Amino acid sequence: MRICRQCQCEMVEGFDVKVEGAGYGIKIAEGIGIFANRIEKPKVAICPECGEISLYIENTDKISKSK
Ligand SMILES: [Zn+2]
Repeated sequence: MRICRQCQCEMVEGFDVKVEGAGYGIKIAEGIGIFANRIEKPKVAICPECGEISLYIENTDKISKSK
């Protein structure tokens, strides 16, 4: 469960990210260029009270914690 940073309401999770007009969505990657290590497609949580949105990924196992 995610809590809105603005009003501390429970956010609605699981929305997909889409770039308007392109339809490709976005991906979060680690590193630069063709060697970038794709992590995961981000999801969006939306606060039904104030409209705050929050990007997150579901699987954090792939993220290196060495940084
Ligand atoms: Zn809110």
